[in-house]
Amino acid sequence: MKRMEEMILSEGKVLPGGVLKVGSFLNQQVDTNFMREIGDEIARLYKDDGATKILTIESSGIPIAISAGFAMGLPVVYAKKNKSSNVSGDVYYTPVKSFTHGDTNNVVVAKEYISPEDRVLIVDDFLAHGSALTGLIDIVDQAGAALVGCVAAIEKGFQLGGDKLREQGYRVESLAIVDEMTDDGITFRPQY
Ligand code: 5GP
Repeated sequence: MKRMEEMILSEGKVLPGGVLKVGSFLNQQVDTNFMREIGDEIARLYKDDGATKILTIESSGIPIAISAGFAMGLPVVYAKKNKSSNVSGDVYYTPVKSFTHGDTNNVVVAKEYISPEDRVLIVDDFLAHGSALTGLIDIVDQAGAALVGCVAAIEKGFQLGGDKLREQGYRVESLAIVDEMTDDGITFRPQY
């Protein structure tokens, strides 16, 4: 998505540790007009796949998932990060290693919100090592639902999570793939 690359180039800040900061339009302040374009693009990518539900993870995935949900006319479910290791009740849960904090938390989704009849599209803001998407895929599997595919707004290709998931046979679409980023510049993987 050309406009995602332009936004990253004009607004993104490269931080130490392979972190890209996009707080001005995606992660903290949300550019709602751009968010509408993101939703439309996700809808275009997955318009023929019969998704019945969008699944994301709190908190930064939520605006993107909601935009896609509006564009596709679908409900959105978001997995919650559970700080305690004790998970009980009628929930699916799976461990996810936090890219930003390095610790591992269970993420949980109440069983009532994903059923075996669902066809799930997974959405998140960033794809780095792939832990968040792998956890969400595990929840879809536990529910016995079908996985339509995954979308990341921004994939950092050099952290390899996206390519590992594609090698496993999953459909993973990223609106922009950063293959290299330094203080001097950002290089995108050609996609169109
Ligand atoms: P992964 O699980 O693929 O290693 O990392 C993805 C998760 O970590 C996303 O849900 C996102 O919140 C966070 N994340 C990973 N890399 C970045 C980054 O460069 N910038 C920001 N803002 N978040 C990131």
